[in-house]
Amino acid sequence: VYDRVFADRADCKILLQTYFGDVRDVYEDIINMPFAGIGLDFIEGKQTGQLIDGYGFPGDKVLFAGLVNGKNIWRNHYDKTLKVVGQLRDKKIDVVLSTSCSLLHVPYTLKQETKLSQDYLRFFAFAEEKLIELSELAALAESYNYTELEAYHKNQELFAGTRDCNSYEVRQRLAAVTEADYARLPKRSERQALQKKEFGLPELPTTTIGSFPQTKDVKSQRAQLRKGEISEQEYVDFVKGKIKECVKWQEDIGLDVLVHGEYERNDMVEYFGEALGGFLFTEKAWVQSYGTRCVKPPVIWGDVYRKKPITVDWSVYAQSLTDKIMKGMLTGPVTILNWSFPREDISIKESISQIALAIRDEVLDLEAHGIKMIQIDEAALREKLPLRKSDWYTEYLDFAIPAFRLTHSGVKAETQIHTHMCYSEFTDIIPAIDDMDADVITFEASRSDLQILDSLRENNFETEVGPGVYDIHSPRVPSVAEIVKAVNVMLTKIGRDKLWINPDCGLKTRGVPETDASLRNMVEAARQVRK
Ligand code: GLN
Ligand code: ZN
Repeated sequence: VYDRVFADRADCKILLQTYFGDVRDVYEDIINMPFAGIGLDFIEGKQTGQLIDGYGFPGDKVLFAGLVNGKNIWRNHYDKTLKVVGQLRDKKIDVVLSTSCSLLHVPYTLKQETKLSQDYLRFFAFAEEKLIELSELAALAESYNYTELEAYHKNQELFAGTRDCNSYEVRQRLAAVTEADYARLPKRSERQALQKKEFGLPELPTTTIGSFPQTKDVKSQRAQLRKGEISEQEYVDFVKGKIKECVKWQEDIGLDVLVHGEYERNDMVEYFGEALGGFLFTEKAWVQSYGTRCVKPPVIWGDVYRKKPITVDWSVYAQSLTDKIMKGMLTGPVTILNWSFPREDISIKESISQIALAIRDEVLDLEAHGIKMIQIDEAALREKLPLRKSDWYTEYLDFAIPAFRLTHSGVKAETQIHTHMCYSEFTDIIPAIDDMDADVITFEASRSDLQILDSLRENNFETEVGPGVYDIHSPRVPSVAEIVKAVNVMLTKIGRDKLWINPDCGLKTRGVPETDASLRNMVEAARQVRK
């Protein structure tokens, strides 16, 4: 392909820009091609430096060195960066300073953050500030005595001081965790038998993934609370009213396992972050999630712990309204980390483990308050899977999966742990998913022609499964016949005793009418198949 590009564009200088890691598999090839410049990632590219040392960098090309992190929000450590630049220049390499990737992944500017104190903000650089960093770094790199310049000094001071973010208790607690804390007993098959007795659910039990439509009234009440137009108590009473309606609605529809509806949550990560020590929140630091949907990820500032019970009151209230089983609803540690801006001063593994202990507290608290089914969402589990297969386990799954187990390994055998993952693109990591040791997993399968089911069978998947029977990402109401058909296909791959019937994700983005119609059709379909 590039031969054609070069042939057609003989008089044009071409920059090959790479990012999201190093290019170890093609480095030697690309440095020998007639690019005028090559952009390399020095942040996520663990081997970028080694590649340059090992194979050299041609004197006739410009190196666009991605030394300012384009994915995270922390200030650049000038001294470290300038040392790398110095080494490159010693090799007579022509260097352009750059970010490690596009700035799509970070918020726009710090200028509009009025609530956080400078004690925090001075450690951050959003997109605009990263551009300032690049120009400061360029100026420093031009100077023979940069260590005497002010920009360098200010930056040094920032990194020399402490950030006041470590907790002795959190560190002690994590250090005391043993191998046994990562394993739930008894083994899953025994638990599943006990749980069948405990819950007495019909075959093909019906449930939902957690949230119900976040209608205008819900959002406006939250906005009013934020602006101080209504009191905390008024807000709580409003949410309780919604929960009550939602429980009645689900009973009327005939669902087997109920949820409280998640009306109190703005976002499944921000909501938990707010109740956890160690998190910081911005006012306007939005980033794109997909299409026109945006999220405002919290910042993991310090060691994480649970400040107070998070969901217990809501779940207990919801359970008090019904004789049916009320599923508790939590976000898992991997997803909380993946949808936040992570720390750079400790490893991802350590941060995830801290969050896992905080969620473990909440799991045990829910159980102690009579909640017998607890769903721990890991919607984003797959997102941080390294790009190279060879790194999947050692650099991610080997600690992400145990962290999930740490959240639930302390519950009784009869307590049923569910998890939910968006997108079923986990065909290639099915053993890892089974290793989460949840009792039930629900996931999205309706858009992927149910191919995943074959892989589950081939891998002898043990977890009970609810491969979404309809797509919630569209307002279309699925017919009973259509759902019956989908369930029958599922039954050719999954045992009757292992299959759950549910939509493929939370319902918060849907409207009430289509939600009602779709769920009624789903319940009716389950009835017909049971018969
Ligand atoms: N429990 C969450 C909900 O229903 C799960 C959301 C998700 O998977 N993204 O909204
Ligand atoms: Zn989902």
